Order: sequence, then C-alpha cells, then structure tokens
Amino acid sequence: MSTDLTAGNPATGAGIVQRLGVKPIINAGGPNTMHSGSRPRQEAMDAMQAMSEVFVNIDELLIAAGEEIASLVGAEAATVTSGASGGLVVQAAAAVSKGDPEIIARLPDTDGIPNELVIQKRHRFVYDHLYLAPGTKFVEAGDDAACTPEQLEAAITPNTAAVIHLESPFKNRNAVPLSEAAEIAHAHGLPLLADGASMLPPRDNLRRFTSEGADLVSFSGGKAVRGPQSTGFLIGKPEWVEYARLVNAPNATIARAQKVSKEEIAGLLASLRVFVEVDEEAETTRYRRDMESVLDRIAEVPGIAASIEHNYDHYIPHVVVRLTDSWRGPDGPELARRLMLGDQRVYVVSGYIGDREIWVDPLNIQPGELDTVAARVHEELMKAAR
Ligand SMILES: *Cc1c(COP(=O)(O)O)cnc(C)c1O
Repeated sequence: MSTDLTAGNPATGAGIVQRLGVKPIINAGGPNTMHSGSRPRQEAMDAMQAMSEVFVNIDELLIAAGEEIASLVGAEAATVTSGASGGLVVQAAAAVSKGDPEIIARLPDTDGIPNELVIQKRHRFVYDHLYLAPGTKFVEAGDDAACTPEQLEAAITPNTAAVIHLESPFKNRNAVPLSEAAEIAHAHGLPLLADGASMLPPRDNLRRFTSEGADLVSFSGGKAVRGPQSTGFLIGKPEWVEYARLVNAPNATIARAQKVSKEEIAGLLASLRVFVEVDEEAETTRYRRDMESVLDRIAEVPGIAASIEHNYDHYIPHVVVRLTDSWRGPDGPELARRLMLGDQRVYVVSGYIGDREIWVDPLNIQPGELDTVAARVHEELMKAAR
C-alpha cells in the first residue's frame, strides 16, 4: 500500500497507522507478540518518558532494578531481560558459563565444557531454540506423549549443564512436575531453569515456581504485566541471577543483541509496581463479566459449545468456543481469519490446541470495543453455521 506522508494525525495511534497504511486491529486474542503484545500501562509510558531525561551507568541501573523487582515480587534475586525470550538465552548461557569470564567471552563456543540441556520432549515448544543460542544442545527425555521422572533422570550425563522446564498452557500433562524435576536436577548438582513467560496472572506464580525449586524463572514483562513489550525478567537464586546478569547485555557477550534501554527498564519497574498491587479477585470478576457478555451473545449459535474457562491453561477468564460434531462451518483458524477481514478486524486465538476451538481473551480489549467483539464473533459464527 502506498503511504501518504500528509495523512493521519501524528498525535494519535490511529493517525500514525493511517499514514503508514497499516490497518489497526481489535485485539481479543491476548498478548501475542505478532499482534503487538499488550497495552503498556500509563505508569510505564510516563516512567519511560521521565527516564529519557537522565544518563546512568547501565550496570548500576540493572543491579538496582533487579533488587527492586526482587522486593516487589518476593524473590531472592532478579534481573531484567529483553522479553522472556531473552531470558531463555541468558539462562542457558548462565548454565554453561557460571560466571567464568573466559567461557562468557567465547560463547557460543562450548568445546570441552558441559553443554547439554535436558528437556522433557513434552516441553519442546516454538521458542525453545533460544535455549540453544549459546552453543548448547538439547537431550530429550521421554516422548511426545509422556515423560517419567526415571526418563528425565536417565537423560542426565556428565555433559549436562542444566535441566530445562516449561510452564505453559497444555504442557504440564503427563509430564514431570516442576518440583520433581528440580529435585532430580539438584541431586545431580544441576540448576533447574524454567520458562514461565505467560503464566501471569495468577500473581502467585511469581513465588510458586521458585518455591517449587526453580533456580531461574523467565517471565514476560510485555504480556499481562503490561510493561514495555520488549521487556522480561528473571527471578531466582542469587548466584544464578548473577551468572545471568554477567552474560547478559550490555556486556560484550552472546546476549549483546538483547539490550534493554534505561527507559524500558524504568517502564518495566513502573508496570510491575502496579501489577503486583492489583486486586486480582476484582480484576478476574471484571474479565469474567466482560466474557459473559460475549458468551450471552453467541449462546444460541447452533453447532458450538461455548463456555468461560479460567484455569492453568487460561490465565484469565476466556470465552472458549468449541466446534462440536454437529458444526457444519469451517474450522477455528478459518473463522479467526474471517474475523480479521473487513473494517473491524478482530483478532482471536485459534490453532493453539487443534483447529476446533477459538478463544476470546479480554486482556487487550479496550473500553468501548467489547460490543464490537461480541457482534463480530456472533456474526461470523452465524454466517458459518448456516
Ligand atoms: C510468550 C512466551 C515466550 C516469549 O516471551 P517474550 O516476552 O515475548 O519474549 C517464551 N516462552 C513462552 C512459553 C511464552 O508463552
């Protein structure tokens, strides 16, 4: 699409995307990076603007920010990363280097040092290659269907650097739970490195994964925390957080490309301060009420079974629309594609587990958009149900 440099009011988001010829979306699919994450809290935007006024030593800022994050979330130690993804690279790099400056300087060359990461095959996922960036390799335990503690332990060799663990929707079935995986890792003198990127809320998870034995847990700052989209944080044992910090940007290391600006660091702190203070029960009630209004609208559509789900697999109340055996229309991904057409593009989750479901996630639905979401979902379902 050609762009008209005079089009659009530069003081509004709508104006900016109009000038660029990019169509905005209503985001009813949650904090997915491809659909621009979540809306940063006003406190985060204000802190970023304010932080642009000063210069600091970034090492000093990162150490202080880590201390503040740790005290806010009730962790022993913490540090800032470039998204939870950046945290995965840094976790693996920490496991092979353990603060040794010579190893840090030569990564991703891991010749002659333990460089294997044991991971349950059930826990392989789309972003897991980030764990391999520092010259590491996976050794899989179990198979696609299941993993037992015995299989996990049998995968450990003298060449193992860490045990990797994923906490993510639909990934904990028939898998070794975190507490047992941590016991096995620790019995072999290894760290348990966990990815909990999307597991907030519930806010309890800020304490749960470390109390169950994880040495480092990676969380996103740009999902429901609603900090700057490019931020994340690691929490855990002080020695492991320090190993992670030493191998992370701004140092000249494997992770140098993952820098986080002072503005983003300040924005993350501001958003976390709000996030941990929010009354989770009241927040959940609000999301549930919003989702009930969508559910009411589509209740009569033939061939679907819709419900509100809020559990391990659904971090906040979602409307889950299941296409039943009597559904005659297209599959979930096709319905989602149709919702992205037209003037009111609505993004919903599909294809996450199979192609017979779509989910509506309230996190990013802005004031005034809920009716449009309900109407568009109803409209596309009814058109397809005929
Ligand atoms: C979202 C997610 C990531 C990536 O997090 P970013 O903060 O976007 O880098 C990594 N792992 C899992 C399981 C996730 O859900």
